[in-house]
Amino acid sequence: MSERTYLDHNATSPVRPEARAALLDALDATGNGSSVHGEGRATRSTIDTARRRVAALVGADPRGVIFTAGGTEADTLALTPDYQRGEEALAFDVLLVSAVEHAAVLRGHRFPADRVEVLPVDARGRVLLDALDAALERHAGEGRRALVSVMLANNETGVVQPVAEVARRAHAHGALVHTDAVQVAGRMPVSISDLGVDLMSVSAHKLGGALGAGALIAADPDLRPAPVFAGGGQERGRRAGSENVPAIAAFGAAAECAAACAEADAMRIHALRERLESALRCEFPELVLLVGDVDRLPNTSCLALPGVPAETVVIALDLAGVAASAGAACSSGKVAASHVLEAMGVPERIARSAIRLSFGWSSGEEDVDRAIGVFRRVVPGLLRRRAAA
Ligand code: PLP
Repeated sequence: MSERTYLDHNATSPVRPEARAALLDALDATGNGSSVHGEGRATRSTIDTARRRVAALVGADPRGVIFTAGGTEADTLALTPDYQRGEEALAFDVLLVSAVEHAAVLRGHRFPADRVEVLPVDARGRVLLDALDAALERHAGEGRRALVSVMLANNETGVVQPVAEVARRAHAHGALVHTDAVQVAGRMPVSISDLGVDLMSVSAHKLGGALGAGALIAADPDLRPAPVFAGGGQERGRRAGSENVPAIAAFGAAAECAAACAEADAMRIHALRERLESALRCEFPELVLLVGDVDRLPNTSCLALPGVPAETVVIALDLAGVAASAGAACSSGKVAASHVLEAMGVPERIARSAIRLSFGWSSGEEDVDRAIGVFRRVVPGLLRRRAAA
């Protein structure tokens, strides 16, 4: 196959060599982590090593890490009205989420739909703190306790949310705070205590681990969401089911690599993204950068050729060797404009043209060069088709 340029790390990143080695080692081992024999104890030790590494990635206590099957399950586990802190039961009456959350959060999961309140965002996609304050005050005034879930950075635009400020305001009203850090953990330094959140979701395959592992991390190891699965006592009774040890081992190895180079990688990747964006904007004035002048992930570009459907651009790029992604979601054969761009007030014609380019740990200068070359080959044809339509 001719050389490909992979610019879809926000969908999934390639598995790091260290993670692959850890996965294969774990596959070769026999033993259930719940068994008391030597094989079982070796598996338990593999899981505990991974737990320490994942905890270290975000500066958490390893006892707060609950391994799951990915970011979606971590979000699902977090979004429940029923918690316990030690022996004390905590009940939440309402869930507050931002309008730009991933679908894994937006649906509210175990909260009934009429107890989920969606907070608006500004034109750059940041949650409106005044709206958060108003909702917190209203619910507290009426005796309702809130769980707040605001993502650390958006998967489509890369826009970073003021999560530390959200946590400060929410805690002042006695609320509990969860953040979906799936797109950030392993890509930029993250500290659960600096953010001041109670719970954080992370996912292995976004940071160079294997698909099929993630974690919900509680800042206080005694804080426990009601489990989703009933069964054995794995994960200290917080997530039943024999652990996916190979994926967890790979997650730990990837987390350790990512933690060691998150800062340097973020700078390197930022430079790649900036070079691509400035070349594209200079050569194709028709291209619109949908989010620019705002705190955003160093790896993500959200662009549009207004009037050219996103899927047409993505297919043309794919045929020419660049893997990118449409900012629009496709369900039941109908391409819908992204709820994220809609919440930001981006006009529908532009939103339907939005594509996402996202770099990651394996990206290099050659990816930028090849992507620029492919845009040069593809964009003039797309513009001619647009003019003829
Ligand atoms: N949250 C965000 C922000 C995401 O981008 C994704 C995946 O794209 C998820 C949650 C779901 O994670 P997973 O694919 O590990 O279930």
